[in-house]
Amino acid sequence: MLIEENKPLAPFTTFGIGGPARWFVEAASEEEIAEAAAWAAERGVPLFVLGGGSNLLVSDSGFDGLVLRVALHGISEQVATTPSGQTIYQAAAGEDWDPFVERTTQAGSAGIECLVGIPGTVGGTPVQNVGAYGQEVASAIEQVRAFDLQSHSFVEFAAAECGFAYRRSRFNSEDRGRYIVTRVDYRLTPGGAPTVRYADLQRALAESGEPNLAEVAAVVRRVRQAKGMLLVDGDPDCRSAGSFFKNPVVSEEQLRQIAAVSAKEPPRFPAGTGAENLGWVKVPAAWLIEQAGFSKGYTLGAAAISSRHTLALVNLGAASAAEVLALAEQINAAVEARFGLRLEMEPVLVGF
Ligand SMILES: Cc1cc2nc3c(=O)[nH]c(=O)nc-3n(C[C@H](O)[C@H](O)[C@H](O)COP(=O)(O)OP(=O)(O)OC[C@H]3O[C@@H](n4cnc5c(N)ncnc54)[C@H](O)[C@@H]3O)c2cc1C
Repeated sequence: MLIEENKPLAPFTTFGIGGPARWFVEAASEEEIAEAAAWAAERGVPLFVLGGGSNLLVSDSGFDGLVLRVALHGISEQVATTPSGQTIYQAAAGEDWDPFVERTTQAGSAGIECLVGIPGTVGGTPVQNVGAYGQEVASAIEQVRAFDLQSHSFVEFAAAECGFAYRRSRFNSEDRGRYIVTRVDYRLTPGGAPTVRYADLQRALAESGEPNLAEVAAVVRRVRQAKGMLLVDGDPDCRSAGSFFKNPVVSEEQLRQIAAVSAKEPPRFPAGTGAENLGWVKVPAAWLIEQAGFSKGYTLGAAAISSRHTLALVNLGAASAAEVLALAEQINAAVEARFGLRLEMEPVLVGF
């Protein structure tokens, strides 16, 4: 195990922002994960787990601790077939997510086809319950294997034990920082029908009759690219962490208050499918931001709102983390002044 010192973190993030890690290690096996965790524990050094760096804003001064980059690889296909005919794919946490989705989709296995084109690693997906275009990983995860930094042992959680909700799991809430995910088992449906629930997809597929998984995935990729939400070399709109703000979930009463101060009827989406979501609705943060006076392409120093998607903040080239946060605060203050609510940031802040 090679522990490096003062390793710049910006190249490990999709934002391309951030100072150095005091110590840095890549762990390519479960043994190395345990070894790195012991190294940090023995020295009383804080530990941060890095995946693909696609949901992070790292501070300009970096991280004063050990950054452990998860580099476990390997996917075993069809290791177990469930009684209902579903297939389990066991994917190591360091595998890139997008090629994994492409592979399962091309194999005709349904369940994650709308999540194509999302950057990052397999291990990062359960952390914020990655979701897009009508799907969330919560509904396809069978089990998550992880190293427990408290007990220094490996544990396995069934999906029901992961505390999944909108952009939430136990791994980014009550147990934040406690587990290092080493493997995620996905339960997919061979020959299953694609999910075409989202209005943008329905419009784009209107002429397609009964599209197959690969066609749906291809359309998702096109829609994402049009919004600058796909990592494409040389595209300045994708130097981001994706959506910078979560869509707020508000009560019917709050929704009426938002409608009362806006010129247009606010768009709304169901907050979720469970009974606990009754009486709650999701309002697009992008709409609130636009109604608060911001438009695509708005710039503050070298940080900007993406020219194709109001929800993504981008690094125009040499933005600092401080500039991105200043822009985020400017937006949030305007949304709060207009609608009386503050938006929650989606990316994880590191080293602040
Ligand atoms: C262009 C673009 C589009 C995006 N679109 C979407 C989208 O549609 N939907 C969506 O949900 N997200 C989206 N994202 C955000 C991001 O891609 C996802 O959240 C992704 O799953 C993050 O994974 P990562 O490996 O990059 O994690 P990182 O960014 O490296 O880390 C994020 C958090 O997860 C933790 N983490 C990562 N790996 C592990 C592990 N193995 N064990 C424990 N903790 C871990 C980190 O400690 C950190 O707290 C987008 C980002 C970009 C740049």
